[in-house]
This record gives sequence, C-alpha cells and structure tokens, in this order.
Amino acid sequence: MQIYIDGKYYPKEEAKVSVFDHGFLYGDGVFEGIRAYSGRIFRLDEHLDRLYDSAKTIDLKASITKDEMAKAIIETCKKNNLKDAYIRPIISRGVGDLGLDPRKCAKSSVFIIATEWGAMYGDLYEKGLKAITVSVRRNPAEALPPNVKSLNYLNNIMAKIEANYKGGDEAIFFDTNGYVCEGSGDNIFVIKNGVIITPPTLNNLRGITRMVALEIANSLGITVLERNMGYYDLYSADEVFVTGTAAEIAPITWIDGRDIGTGKPGPITRQCMEQFKIVVQKEGTP
Ligand code: PLP
Repeated sequence: MQIYIDGKYYPKEEAKVSVFDHGFLYGDGVFEGIRAYSGRIFRLDEHLDRLYDSAKTIDLKASITKDEMAKAIIETCKKNNLKDAYIRPIISRGVGDLGLDPRKCAKSSVFIIATEWGAMYGDLYEKGLKAITVSVRRNPAEALPPNVKSLNYLNNIMAKIEANYKGGDEAIFFDTNGYVCEGSGDNIFVIKNGVIITPPTLNNLRGITRMVALEIANSLGITVLERNMGYYDLYSADEVFVTGTAAEIAPITWIDGRDIGTGKPGPITRQCMEQFKIVVQKEGTP
C-alpha cells in the first residue's frame, strides 16, 4: 500500500506522522471518506467541496488546491491499483509545538490513504442492522457544526462504544433538543405510510449518500419530507435505513428492542438499495 503524504508516496510501514502534528495532538484537521466503484471515484467533486468547506469553517488553509487534491486522490488510487476502494484524504493543521495556537503550524499536512473495500455490513444488508439510541449527544450546530467533518470524532466514537456494549450494530444520535440527528457515521431515514422522512442537515453531517438517496427517492416518485423527528418517529416507523459512503444504504430493522415494521428490510428500503447499486456503477470519475 502506497500512502500519500505531502506530495510523496510511502509504503504503509513507513507512512508516519509527526507527534507534533496538531491533527494528532488536538484533532485539529478535517477529512473525507470517498468510494471508488469499478475504478471510478464516486461524487469526487462533492466530497472535495465538503472537505474544503470543512477546512474553511475551521480556518484551515490547505497546502494544496482542490484540483491538486483531486489529482492526488486519482493518482493514489492508480498507484495502489484500486478498483473498489475507500479513500481517506486528510488535511491537518500541520506540525507545530505543544501549544494549541494554530499560528505555530507553518503549513498544513495532507495525507491520502486508499484501500480496497467491499460491503461494510456483510450479511446485515439482508438481515437488517440493530440500532441503539445513545445517551451521548451530537455536537450542536452552535458549537462545532456537525457539517464540519473534523478530526474530532470523539462523540461519534462514544456513541459507537455505547451501541457496542448494548448489542447494537449502529448508534442513533439525538441532539440536545431531543431531535434525531443521524448514526455514528451515516444519515438516517424513516419511512412511514409510503413517505420518506429525514432530518434537515443542521444537526447532522450533510451526507453525500444522503443526497444520492434523495435523488433516488425522487426518481422513484416517493415523497420525501425533511423535518425534525423524535423517538416516536423511529419506534413507530414502517422502515428505517441509514446512508453513508462506507455503509452505503443499509436497513435498520430493530431499535432499542423494538422491531421496526415487520422486523425485516422493507420494500422501499430495498428499492433504494437496488437503485443505489445501479447509480454507483453508472457514474464516477475514471
Ligand atoms: N454522518 C456522519 C457523522 C458521518 O461521518 C458520515 C460519513 O461521512 C455520514 C453522516 C454520511 O456522509 P456521506 O454519505 O457523505 O459519507
């Protein structure tokens, strides 16, 4: 595996980060998760826009332009001979000293890791995932906005830990108002009486797969509502699914001990999953 660090490639064992990099010391940086299907990178421009918007929001100036980043990502996939891949570009504040002042970091660091990738949830796409609503809250929009895909994923990790010990495959976050946000690494959709409902993107990450799911719902003529939801909407749903670059579209069939709908992936979820497979194979940056 060849890993990109600031314009050079290193074998996995030699790809090292300074302990003085503020990405390591403080989680000061941003990242993306991108997929390639059959040698084509899916929605690269959208991911790059989000990466650079995340960086802008935390006042982080990337040491390479968006175009250079795109070229580096494509080159990293080629160098590693990847067809079906998960790609992780990272921009960190760079090397500074032990103080957290970002002015001490002369230049941001750029890393790109790309690896082979298959279906993240294996047979759970057929069976459905178990989800746990967790007590840890998503960071609120008035603090670090969840739209910033920052290297600070500790509350997502806390959510995952809670879901793990309670026997869930995925966590479901709420915000401090009691509204449903998203999963630990994916957006959430509820289906009730043939209508798809998903939270607006102020309290969750503006997912690119979420956009794809909305486009698919639109193409299938299914009504979509973007509105806030609570526990009631989850527990009484006919179907629930999550969307994410890693998870793709995955059904949730059990939440906090309650079967969702029939307890099996429902017909609308299945339709969206099928369409998703077609869409990802059809488009992409070669
Ligand atoms: N929500 C969170 C917290 C995530 O980390 C991700 C993954 O990137 C998503 C949602 C889904 O976003 P996307 O579909 O762009 O991967």
